[in-house]
Amino acid sequence: MHADQLNPAQQEVVDLLGAPMDERPTFDPGLRDELRALLEEGLAPLVPVIESDRFDDDVLYLSKHRLAQAHGCERKFTAELSEPFQWSPPIARGTITHKAIELSVHWQGEASPLALVDEAMARLENTDRSIADYLTGCDPTERAELRAESAAATTQFAECFPPLKAKWRPATDSPIRAELCAGLIVLSGKPDLTLGQPAATVAGKVIIDFKTGRFSPAHREDLRFYALVEALRILPPRLLATYYLDQARFHPEEVTRDLLLSAAERVIDGAQRYAELASGSREPTVAPGPACRWCPAQSDCDEGAAYLEDAPDGHADW
Ligand code: SF4
Repeated sequence: MHADQLNPAQQEVVDLLGAPMDERPTFDPGLRDELRALLEEGLAPLVPVIESDRFDDDVLYLSKHRLAQAHGCERKFTAELSEPFQWSPPIARGTITHKAIELSVHWQGEASPLALVDEAMARLENTDRSIADYLTGCDPTERAELRAESAAATTQFAECFPPLKAKWRPATDSPIRAELCAGLIVLSGKPDLTLGQPAATVAGKVIIDFKTGRFSPAHREDLRFYALVEALRILPPRLLATYYLDQARFHPEEVTRDLLLSAAERVIDGAQRYAELASGSREPTVAPGPACRWCPAQSDCDEGAAYLEDAPDGHADW
């Protein structure tokens, strides 16, 4: 078999992500201003809340994670807001794997997944980020588990994705951001992988997030949020795709004007919930679900305890 021959999973990636120019959608160049105006009008009532003493920060930052929290169980969200961020094995594994994949995309020559993971861990340990302290503080067993699990995820990526060509313009963990309401509200994110770019008003970018486990509608919402931020920056992407590495399966979604308008409404609704809960202007509601498993309010929550008695298996991101 020739080294350039692709396995069926890799071929599926090429078939889905490659689209002739005349099959790509075109977007109105005024759409970014229209979306901005819609968002700023909907978010305007929150400006006095953010500027008041009831809101701890000077700026309301919205990420896909924060929006998912605001649209999930509000009691859990409120509990998480009062807890400082802490590294855990699943979060560290995701960070190491993302770094290893980033290295693999730009690596000159061959490198095994384990070698990429070792390099990723060494790089992260030499940053001034808090993960450096976490990794250096891990005991040998935790470290070996992190290394093994990150290598397994990196191996799955290498199995499923074809070698990414420079002309596809691959970018990993590239930050995107849009500031609204004179910088008081910031939408930001880091898609796992983007390929392509727009040409004039023809959409060309594909945004991909990697997951393991089952499909969740929340994964689709994460990507719609990224599509909205891209649309505010330059032009909407043409395709969104959640890729489940353990299944070697895509869940693709084409980007449309209606999708972006719906994503903007979800941002306005999520920002409103966030501002109300963070400023203490109303009591949080409860919504038992799979997230009860890792909820910091679980020990005091009767609804969560009742749900967990008969809960199905959860799913995980990396
Ligand atoms: S245990 Fe479940 S229902 Fe209760 S606060 Fe946490 S996530 Fe919400």
